[in-house]
Amino acid sequence: MNSNSNSNTNFIREIIEEDLKNNKNNGRVHTRFPPEPNGYLHIGHAKAICLNFGIARDYNGLCNLRFDDTNPTKEDIEYVDSIIEDVKWLGFDWGDRMFYASDYFQTLYEFAIELIKKGKAYVDPSSPEEIKEHKGTLTEPGKESPYRDRPIEESLDLFIKMKEGKFEDGSYVLRAKIDMSSPNIHMRDPVIYRIKRVTHHRTGDKWCIYPMYDYAHPLSDWIEGITHSLCTLEFEIHRPLYDWFLEALELKNRPRQIEFARLNLSYTIMSKRKLLELVEEGYVSGWDDPRMPTICGLRRRGYTPESIRNFADKIGISKRESLTDVALLEHSIREDLNKRAQRVMAVLNPLKIVITNYPEDKVEELEAVNNPEDPSMGKRKIYFSREIYVERDDFREDPPKNFYRLYPGNEVRLKYAYIIKCNEVIKDDDGNIKELHCTYDPETRSGSACKRTVRGTIHWVSISHSYKAEVRLYDRLFLVENPLAIENRDFKEFINPNSLKILNDCYIESNFINAKAGDKFQFERLGYFCVDPDSTDTYKIFNRTVSLKDTWAKIEKKN
Ligand code: ATP
Ligand code: MG
Repeated sequence: MNSNSNSNTNFIREIIEEDLKNNKNNGRVHTRFPPEPNGYLHIGHAKAICLNFGIARDYNGLCNLRFDDTNPTKEDIEYVDSIIEDVKWLGFDWGDRMFYASDYFQTLYEFAIELIKKGKAYVDPSSPEEIKEHKGTLTEPGKESPYRDRPIEESLDLFIKMKEGKFEDGSYVLRAKIDMSSPNIHMRDPVIYRIKRVTHHRTGDKWCIYPMYDYAHPLSDWIEGITHSLCTLEFEIHRPLYDWFLEALELKNRPRQIEFARLNLSYTIMSKRKLLELVEEGYVSGWDDPRMPTICGLRRRGYTPESIRNFADKIGISKRESLTDVALLEHSIREDLNKRAQRVMAVLNPLKIVITNYPEDKVEELEAVNNPEDPSMGKRKIYFSREIYVERDDFREDPPKNFYRLYPGNEVRLKYAYIIKCNEVIKDDDGNIKELHCTYDPETRSGSACKRTVRGTIHWVSISHSYKAEVRLYDRLFLVENPLAIENRDFKEFINPNSLKILNDCYIESNFINAKAGDKFQFERLGYFCVDPDSTDTYKIFNRTVSLKDTWAKIEKKN
């Protein structure tokens, strides 16, 4: 995986190197990626995946995949499967270390019993409303529950009954006994277990009490021998609680939580809940709609794992929240596909040309370069004949200044072929342009000795050597940079109504009639395209991954 072998350092790597120098954790580095299986992974998760697995790789460590499935209501096997597929596809391997937080329910229960025995947790019948009301505020301390100092034996008895299903949902909770006047609200006797009769996707109906995330996470980390628990900044304020559980249980070899800034990307959103809204309300065709920032959406769009890993390297890791320009992600895929993608002649908005001085039954083989960036990809034959298609945009009846392509009386070069001259514009009865009549100059065949040049070069396909296909042009899903940051407005108001444009009269060079789902091409002069999985043998659909215009390279040049 050398495209990802990372020489950029960052503050997390510095901490790890320091720990290694001090032989902390006996020189072990063990990270984990802990998704909650309540949605598909997105590009923000890719940042966390590359960070965790990248660190394990670079420091001879290990990285676990752990499903954080402590909240049984929102979780689904479909999500588990998609997460496994996406992490693998990104190129990472957890070996035999795929775990579920629910595997630890019994141990977590026993830890809770221990906390109670140590006088560090108590059972409280207060309602959620009461607990909330007594939490206090940032400026006011909370109020201690009247049950806070109930005897240990009483809490033990009640907690066991909670587990045994003796009580109704929501009637009791187990709380950590910390400090109701702590300036950190998370330390004000947080709830660590609640009663909830929901069937869990793995443990079924075995449990009717479920642990809270803040309790389950540090202990799951400890159980797995995690050394560095990397998470996003919103957990910074939870860190004292993370440490408190490990300390209260007097556990040795404690993991250390380190927070980093999450990825925010312009013109998109990065919240699973809101992405689900787009899916459920039909704004997109599914989680893998090529406009979605999900890993499966990007894959269907034509992104490669390498491009996403390179993107993750480029954005780096920091402690400061920021909004990353989506142009950088687009730059990463262009950079990758430019090196690898097969070049193809394709016309998306066809205008027919008849080359009137070219014999009717003649077909010529011409040579085209497969990838000018990589000579080892060689050349191929393309076919030229009397009737061809060019792009409608490459012709103007009334050309503006500096228009060097086709217009009446002008000459252009057909890429890999001849110079042609536009002589006549043929229109239908309604005045629409039907076709152009041109002549070619037989002396100007590409590669011949003739050195005559013209200013414009355009792409084309021979009508009888191309096949018809559908092309889907994607644009950014939102019209504004940060749709979630606009006050009092729903983010869905900012969906770009032109984010998908379907063209179904497109013509692709017949050499690629057997293109398979996932195959990636550069259509000459147009952009990068990828075969959609909904294609069939006889009907191909191409998704535009990205156009050729690299706005990021321009930004980089300016700075
Ligand atoms: P969402 O807000 O989309 O629901 P989440 O944080 O709830 O995301 P999890 O499944 O809990 O989703 O995330 C798994 C891991 O991925 C966590 O460690 C989380 O910190 C990290 N992560 C989630 N979103 C991002 C992001 N935008 N950038 C970087 N890391 C992220
Ligand atoms: Mg989360």
